[in-house]
Amino acid sequence: MHFSDCVFLLPYKEHLLHCGIANQFLKYEDLSCEWACGGCPIPSITSANCCLYLAPKRFLDRNGSLTQWSCALTGEELDSPAVCNQCECYRGLRLGSRLDKCSI
Ligand code: SF4
Ligand code: SF4
Repeated sequence: MHFSDCVFLLPYKEHLLHCGIANQFLKYEDLSCEWACGGCPIPSITSANCCLYLAPKRFLDRNGSLTQWSCALTGEELDSPAVCNQCECYRGLRLGSRLDKCSI
């Protein structure tokens, strides 16, 4: 993936990027790896019409990364973002890639 595909990934100094969800630094050459951004489900969920209260968390580890989902409204951990489809408290929020902002 390209670093502009995730709104949580920001350049940091010259050779690093920072994942705001994991609060960890990444190297450019690692981005497309499965354990880093390549296998991360977060951009596809947040660029769709996800709930304002959906709070993803990712733990980056070369030996196997982990993604967790929780609800900021109830404080509960969610099995998956799919449970939001049945929730009456859903409040839609649509995030796009940073490049979307340039479409004027
Ligand atoms: S690990 Fe996931 S959430 Fe973090 S910057 Fe990469 S794609 Fe975005
Ligand atoms: S849809 Fe419901 S469960 Fe999902 S994040 Fe929103 S408030 Fe929480």
